Amino acid sequence: MSDDNHFFLRDPWVYDKDASRPGRDDAGRGFDTRSLHAGFDPMTDQDNFRSFTPPLVQSVTFPYETFDRIPCPVYGRTRTPTNTVLEDRIASLEGGEACLTAGSGSQALFNLIFTIARPGDNVVTSLNVFGEGYKQAASIFPERCHVDFRFVADPADPAAWDAQIDGKTKLVWVETPSNPCLFVTDVRAVADVAHSRGVPLMVDNTTATAALQRPLELGADIVLLSISKFMSGNATILGGALVGPEPLMEDIRWNTTEFVGSIIPPAEAWNTLQYLETLSMRMQRHSANALTVARYLDDHPKVERVNYSGLDGHPQHALACRQMSGHSGLLSFVAPGGKVGAATVMNHFKLVVHAVTFGTSRSICMHPPTITHEHMTPDERRAAGIDDGLIRFSVGLENAEDIIADLDQALARV
Ligand SMILES: *Cc1c(COP(=O)(O)O)cnc(C)c1O
Repeated sequence: MSDDNHFFLRDPWVYDKDASRPGRDDAGRGFDTRSLHAGFDPMTDQDNFRSFTPPLVQSVTFPYETFDRIPCPVYGRTRTPTNTVLEDRIASLEGGEACLTAGSGSQALFNLIFTIARPGDNVVTSLNVFGEGYKQAASIFPERCHVDFRFVADPADPAAWDAQIDGKTKLVWVETPSNPCLFVTDVRAVADVAHSRGVPLMVDNTTATAALQRPLELGADIVLLSISKFMSGNATILGGALVGPEPLMEDIRWNTTEFVGSIIPPAEAWNTLQYLETLSMRMQRHSANALTVARYLDDHPKVERVNYSGLDGHPQHALACRQMSGHSGLLSFVAPGGKVGAATVMNHFKLVVHAVTFGTSRSICMHPPTITHEHMTPDERRAAGIDDGLIRFSVGLENAEDIIADLDQALARV
């Protein structure tokens, strides 16, 4: 590496807990307004044409005007005009400075950790994380990059988070509510612990979305999102995003997106913009339906346990009500008879579809112990509450009576 190679002279982002966070110009507007307007003003933001909707610019490259004037964007691996509108809109919804999209939520997690942790560093998290995230934490990063992950045994206890942090910790990572057991972590308490040790906090907001929970307002520094779930809402888009300080987003763009690639293709970014227009309404309906379904399951004599933070009996119900404005559409429950019981219920659904993913307009279910969380050891699954009979159930936008009728006839078979 020569000194005059400007590519490698970029300073890495360094966390500074006292750094000021510039506010956004549209911070005074309501969430619903921002989900329609942020990132694109049809009256001012166009060069060659006048479009009411944000334009879909389906081009991978962008011409130079003169020999030495580099255009921005220059090439579609780093950014495109349509992705820029999407990034600005997502940053606005989360109330963050900047956003960087990625080809999936898992890719966004990888890009973040790859950028901020070096060999010998560590990340502190818990077992309440999505399956691919666990896989990255338990084997890919330790084995390939010598970055270690420490799993906090009791994530409800802020002191347990503190105990895992040391001088090599580069990130604290919380997923709340978690997939698949809907464990709710106190974002402000963990942010306080992380900040007192000089470490940034990342919160995975995939399950609640910004429509129901804004981690940055609760003290987090970075938000991780899968766009593939509720954000797009119908299993037609694979995408992810990070929201956080602009210098960090640019550091990640530089170290991963720019030279490796992973942005959402422009057409998918454009479709995501259409779906985000209804995010707030969809999340309200998902939440209302899920509460009705959770109450039905909670009263069902054959159901051993229901995980849903909207139920009074959920261990962190009060905390969930404080830090979220709704409980989202994801729940899980334990069928009787372990794996065989879960299989019987799932095989008898007529309306509910058995498939990977959640956050879809149509109700969908999946068996975490054998699919997403199969790489955990049995002890880890037990610690995370992933029983053999656990069914992850994403409550869709159908009429709640029809979802319940389907559950009722399927549960009658076990
Ligand atoms: C699915 C999921 C992800 C990963 O998203 P993909 O887009 O499927 O890669 C990240 N976090 C949570 C909580 C998820 O459920």
